[in-house]
Amino acid sequence: MTKVEKEKTSNFVRTMIEKDLANQKYAGVVTRFPPEPNGYLHIGHAKAICVNFGLAEEFGGRCHMRFDDTNPVKEDPEYVESILRDVRWLGFDWGEHLYNASDYFGKFYDFCVALIKDGKAYVCSLTEEEIREYRGTVSEAGKPSPYRDRSVEENLDLLERMRTGEFEDGKHVVRAKGDMSAANMKMRDPLLYRIRNAVHHKTGDAWCIYPMYDYAHCLSDAIEKITHSLCTLEFENNRDLYDFFLEEVGTEKPRPEQTEFARLEVEYIMTSKRKLLKLVTDGHVKGWDDPRMPTIAGMRRRGYTPEAIRDFCERAGVAKANSTVEYSQLEFCIRNDLNQRSPRLMGVLDPLKLVLTNLDKPITVDADLWPHDIPKDGTRSLTLGREIYIDREDFREDAPKGFFRLKPGGEVRLRHGYVIKCDEVMRDASGQTTELRCSVDLATLGADPEGRKVKGTIHWVDAATCVDAKVRLYDRLFTDPSPDGHDGRDHMEFLNSDSLIEKTIKVEPHCTSLGAGEHLQLERVGYFFTDPVDHSTATLTLNKTVGLRDSWAKQSTKQVDAKPKPQSAKKAKKGGAAPDQDKRALERVREGELQSFFEKAVADGVKPALADTLVDAPFLWQLYVAGHGSGFDAGALGAFLVNDVLKLVKDDETTMLTGAQVVEVLEAQQAATINGAGAKKILEALHRESGTVVELIESLGLAQISDAGRLREMVLKVMSEHPSEVADFRAGNKKRRGFLMGQAMKASEGKANPKVLNQVLDQALSGS
Ligand code: ATP
Ligand code: MG
Repeated sequence: MTKVEKEKTSNFVRTMIEKDLANQKYAGVVTRFPPEPNGYLHIGHAKAICVNFGLAEEFGGRCHMRFDDTNPVKEDPEYVESILRDVRWLGFDWGEHLYNASDYFGKFYDFCVALIKDGKAYVCSLTEEEIREYRGTVSEAGKPSPYRDRSVEENLDLLERMRTGEFEDGKHVVRAKGDMSAANMKMRDPLLYRIRNAVHHKTGDAWCIYPMYDYAHCLSDAIEKITHSLCTLEFENNRDLYDFFLEEVGTEKPRPEQTEFARLEVEYIMTSKRKLLKLVTDGHVKGWDDPRMPTIAGMRRRGYTPEAIRDFCERAGVAKANSTVEYSQLEFCIRNDLNQRSPRLMGVLDPLKLVLTNLDKPITVDADLWPHDIPKDGTRSLTLGREIYIDREDFREDAPKGFFRLKPGGEVRLRHGYVIKCDEVMRDASGQTTELRCSVDLATLGADPEGRKVKGTIHWVDAATCVDAKVRLYDRLFTDPSPDGHDGRDHMEFLNSDSLIEKTIKVEPHCTSLGAGEHLQLERVGYFFTDPVDHSTATLTLNKTVGLRDSWAKQSTKQVDAKPKPQSAKKAKKGGAAPDQDKRALERVREGELQSFFEKAVADGVKPALADTLVDAPFLWQLYVAGHGSGFDAGALGAFLVNDVLKLVKDDETTMLTGAQVVEVLEAQQAATINGAGAKKILEALHRESGTVVELIESLGLAQISDAGRLREMVLKVMSEHPSEVADFRAGNKKRRGFLMGQAMKASEGKANPKVLNQVLDQALSGS
C-alpha cells in the first residue's frame, strides 16, 4: 500500500493518533506488537500486526516487537522463531527494536520493592480460592486481606524469600493496595507477582517469581516509551489497571495509553492459540503449518500471500465493536491477489479418457500462460495427441438444458485446441463410462471460423505427455460458521471430517518446471501452490489454495457477497438514507484506491449511487473500463453493469463476458433489436460460454418485435379474448390497462418492443 492511499483511509485509532500529535501529546508514534510465545500466530494476530506496524509506519514512528514472556510454563523458543518469521513474512520490520518482557524482570522487581517500601504493595498469603472469596462480587464490595497490613519489613523479607525459591507455587503472592470496593473488580488489590518454580526459556532458573500480565505489560510499555498501546476489546477492563500501575510506580510522562479495538473474527475460523494447539497435539491436523490451520504458517503453506492477508486486514478495518467477517471476504482477497500472480495451466482431477479419432499425429501449440487482462507474457508448448484426458464432470450423458460441456453428439472446444464432437461413448460392464471417441474439426484450431460457434470450452491433458501430481484439496476445518458460538456444545463437534482430500491427478508437463512454493491456476479448477516442503520435480505436490468461485455462497442459506456488502443501487436511491451513505463514504475512504475509481466514474457521468457499487466489484469495474474505453456512454453503461450484469457475474473471475460484449448487448438494446429480457438472456449465455451477440440473438430467438403491424395483430387478439376487461377499461378502470399490456407481452413470448407495444395498445384501446 502506498502512502497516498493510506492518507485517505481512516479509523478511530488513526484519528486519535492524529489528534495526539496535533496536541503535541507525544513527539512521535511508538507502538508495539506483544505476542506471548505460547503458540503460532494466527489470522487475528495478522490484524494486530497490520494495525501496530501499519500505523507506526504511516506516522513515521516505529513499532517494537516484544515477547510477552511472563509465563514460563507455556512458552517455547520454537514459538519465538515462528513468530519472528511470520511477522517478517507479512512484510514488517522491527529494526533493532526486538524486546522481551523478561528483559525487564530486574526492573519489575525493583519497582515492586519500591511499591512495598511506599506501603503501596504487600505480600498476601491467602490461597487462590480465598483471594477470590475476599474479592467480593460485582454487587458486593470485597473484604481486605488479613495480610494487607503487614509491615514493610515483613513484606520485604517475604518477597526476598519468595524470590530465592524458599516457597512452593501458590504459597504467597504480591498484591497492590487497590480499592477493595471498586466497581471494576480488577482494581480490588490486583496481583503483581506469583510463585512459579519453573525454568524460563530465556532467563533459565534466575527467577521463580513471575510478574502478572497487568503489572508487566504497562511497565514494559513505559520502559520502551511506547505511546499508543493498542490491544483488543477484552482488555477494556484492564485499562484502569494499566493506568493505576503506571501512576503507582510513577513512570515518566508522557505515559503510554491503552486503546482497545475489535478482535478480528472470521466465519468458520477459530482464533485461540489454546484450541489451535489442541488440534495439533491431538493430531487433527498435521502441525501448526497445516494449510487448513488459520495460522500465518498454515496460510503461507497453503499459498495465501502476505499482500492478500494485509489487504484482508485492511478491508476488515479497525472498529470499536466486535463483528465477524464472512469467510468469502477472505477468499475474495486471496483470489484477487492470486489472479495477478498465477500462470494458467491445465490439470484434470478425475480423468476420463478421450480418443480423437481423426487426429493422425500429435500437434503442438504455443499456449499463453496468462490471460489477456494480465500484463504478463509467456507461453508454454502444449502437445495435443490422439489420446487425452478430460475431467469426468465435463461429460454428461443425460446433459440437462444449459449444460454446455460435452454430451453425446455434442460439441465443445478444447482449451487452446480444436472443436471436437462426441461420436461414441464406451462403457464397462457396470455401465460406467470408460472412454469417449470424438472427432476433431480440423479447421478450428484456436479460433472459430465464420459461422461456427460452440458454447463450451473445457480443459484437458495429453495422455502421452501428462504427469501425475499429488493434490491436497482443502476445505474448511469446521462446518459451522461459529464453532465456538453454541452453548453447551464443543467446537470439536463441528470438526469437518472431509477437510482434506488427497488424490493423484494428471497435469500438463509444464508443471514439472515449477519449483517449490510457486503459485499456479489450474484453469476451471482453482488456484494451487506447489507445497514448499514436499514438492519436487519427481513428486509434484500441489496444495489447493482457493477455488475460482465463491463456493460458500452456494452452500450458505444467506446471500454472501465477496466484499463488504455493496449496497444495491436501488436501495441507495430509494432510501437515500444518510447514515448508510455516510457509512459507505467512510468505507470508500478506507478502501483508499477505490476512491479514485469512484471519482473517475462520477466524472465520467455515472450516478454516485451506481458508481459506488461499480467500483466495489472488481470485475464490474474491469468491464466498465473496457466498455467505456470503447466510447460508450458512461451513465448508461454504469447503470447497465450495476443493474443487470452485477447480479450475474458477481466476483466470478472465470466469466467469459468481456467489456466489448457488454457494450454490444447494450447497443442492441438501445437500437431496439432486443428488449431488456433478451439482453439478460444474452448476458447469461456470454457469461458462461464464448459466442457473439448477433449469433445469440438469432439462436436464442431473441430478436425484438418492433413491427407495429405484427404487434397490433397480437393486441387485437388479446382484446378479443378479454372483452370484459376491455369494457372495464373503457368504463374508466385504468388498472385494466396493465393486465392487457401483460397479456399482449405474453402473446409475443416476451419479445415485443415495449415502447411500440404501448403505443399500439393505446391506439387499439382508444378505438383507433
Ligand atoms: P489467543 O486468544 O489466540 O491466545 P492472545 O490475545 O492471547 O490470543 P497474544 O499473543 O497475547 O495472544 O496476542 C498478541 C496481540 O495480538 C495482542 O495485542 C492481542 O490483542 C492481539 N490479538 C490476538 N488475537 C487477535 C484477534 N483475533 N484480532 C486482533 N488482534 C488479536
Ligand atoms: Mg494473550
